[in-house]
Amino acid sequence: MQMRKLIYLDNNATTQVHPEVAEIMDYCLTECFGNPSTIYSFGKKAKRLMDESREKIAKMINAASDEIVFTSGGTEADNLAIFGIAKANRDKGKHIITSKIEHHAIINSCKALEKDGSEITYLDVDKYGIVNLEQLERSIKRETILISIMHANNEIGTIEPIAEIGRIARKHKIYFHSDTVQAVGKIRVDLKEMNLDMASISSHKIHGPKGVGALYVKKGTRIKPILYGGEQEHRLRAGTENVPGIAGFGRAIELAVGEMEKEAAKLSQLRDKLQKGLSERVKYIIFNGHPTERLPNTINCAIQFIEGESLILKLDDLGICASTGSACSSASLEPSHVLLAIGLAHEAAHGSLRLSLGRDTTDEDIDYVLDVLPKAVEELRAFSPPYKEFLRKRGLITKA
Ligand SMILES: *Cc1c(COP(=O)(O)O)cnc(C)c1O
Repeated sequence: MQMRKLIYLDNNATTQVHPEVAEIMDYCLTECFGNPSTIYSFGKKAKRLMDESREKIAKMINAASDEIVFTSGGTEADNLAIFGIAKANRDKGKHIITSKIEHHAIINSCKALEKDGSEITYLDVDKYGIVNLEQLERSIKRETILISIMHANNEIGTIEPIAEIGRIARKHKIYFHSDTVQAVGKIRVDLKEMNLDMASISSHKIHGPKGVGALYVKKGTRIKPILYGGEQEHRLRAGTENVPGIAGFGRAIELAVGEMEKEAAKLSQLRDKLQKGLSERVKYIIFNGHPTERLPNTINCAIQFIEGESLILKLDDLGICASTGSACSSASLEPSHVLLAIGLAHEAAHGSLRLSLGRDTTDEDIDYVLDVLPKAVEELRAFSPPYKEFLRKRGLITKA
């Protein structure tokens, strides 16, 4: 069998580590393994590497370096923001406002708080996935301690009006957190300009290693830790820091932000070509997400009359990695909460496909996908009872 190149179109799930990132991590793992909390010079060398990384990250998002708290990833950063604010601000209230399309790290943290007596408002979104700002202002009350709205959605790529939400939060003197995991390195993120008090970032979505991320916490924010132990990370996150991961993260964010404009231009061109090609070659396809306020690398579509998971497995056979928002194999049988929130019917959401491009995606990759994907859809539809039923109803065939 001929070896085929792997076409990786799942960059919103994770990304390949950049060679320069691997290089600095290798150095850390083999030659700079000291504990950054020690006072002898070998340990201080590790601390210096970690602090350099902290400075790089802060600079890339317009924060100060002592406002960066390293965590084990985006999930922990989201948890720290939600639980940390809830714990430290009980005297003010127990009401939090978020949206229906957040990542599970936010949704499930809020659900856990809800079980413990907090009140959570999950804001609606329009058909493009943009949060309802009027509903946001109406939901604010004296007991509201936090607004948490993601910057860019991982499934449909929609970009939220963060600066506007920041103005509303500031007007009402409420802490504002954003999950900026999918935004950093893809679109411009300026935390000060957006009035953010907290923001979550993750390294492995921007060609850094897995298992490392950070929470930006603006000076003066009332927040408590969720892990107890040593005094690392301004006493907000106990545990010996993941120095190789942090060093890799710093290099990754520097590369991603440094090459962002060039990459975004390339990616949006490839994405538009892919979307146009699919809309011409595949019938009964709906594109999700905002037409313009959207990440440059993300396409999400619902292909009617097929199961998303069957398509993913077929694409896998063809050497293509993609993702679906349908979850037939999970116990819940519920399709993606994001697709339901934008108003997609269950049947349509079951046929959803997410293609997320990355820095390695080429024009040839897109041509190949446009060549094989429509055929794969046709093959699946040939075995689809709902499709036959649809054709029969329209008088296109006489027997189902
Ligand atoms: C991936 C992702 C996370 C979780 O980050 P991890 O580092 O994998 O824990 C959180 N939010 C969004 C929007 C994501 O895409």
